[in-house]
Amino acid sequence: METTVVPKEALRRLKAGNERFLQGGHSLTALDLEKMRGDLVSGQHPFAVVIACSDSRVPPSLIFDQDLGDLFVIRVAGNVVGPSQVASVEYAVDVLRSSLVVVVGHTGCGAIGAAVKAILNPDVHYSPSMDMLMGRISEAVHDDGAFAQAPSLVEKCEIAGRANVRHALENLVNLSDIIRDAEAAGAVKLVGAQYDMASGVVQWMD
Ligand SMILES: [Zn+2]
Repeated sequence: METTVVPKEALRRLKAGNERFLQGGHSLTALDLEKMRGDLVSGQHPFAVVIACSDSRVPPSLIFDQDLGDLFVIRVAGNVVGPSQVASVEYAVDVLRSSLVVVVGHTGCGAIGAAVKAILNPDVHYSPSMDMLMGRISEAVHDDGAFAQAPSLVEKCEIAGRANVRHALENLVNLSDIIRDAEAAGAVKLVGAQYDMASGVVQWMD
């Protein structure tokens, strides 16, 4: 049965889910999963969209302790947003009526590290496809004074990681009338977050 989850409630669910994850997460029996699969055969109504890195240590359904059918997940190295990611979010917002879009970056991100390396050394090149991905991350720190002035590589990666999440959120709004209109109407909320791999804590931005 379809129920509408308002953005505030969707965010509360993810916050509560990360708290549960830190306590070990909830457990399910084979019977629970069988019922869940059965209930979902006719359709999905994920309450939130999560754009996360492909990193094997950052699985959204686990770190937010959510069940089958709860999250519409888009994963790509460096949690960047280009046309394919925008289209996926548009589908979730417009058709599935998800009311929350979260872009979650993480500490120790290899894609962010590689992009920072390429920014600092123009001689560094990867494959053409990887260079495009790196380019999307470096757009985020273009003209970023804090990034330029940060003394250490660790700090630069930290700043770039957060800037990359903000840039991804901006792209979602700037590249999509559907997402921009839904946000303006209050039907969807966009938030950024950072996952700390060592502690398992999701820090919410703003
Ligand atoms: Zn990553």
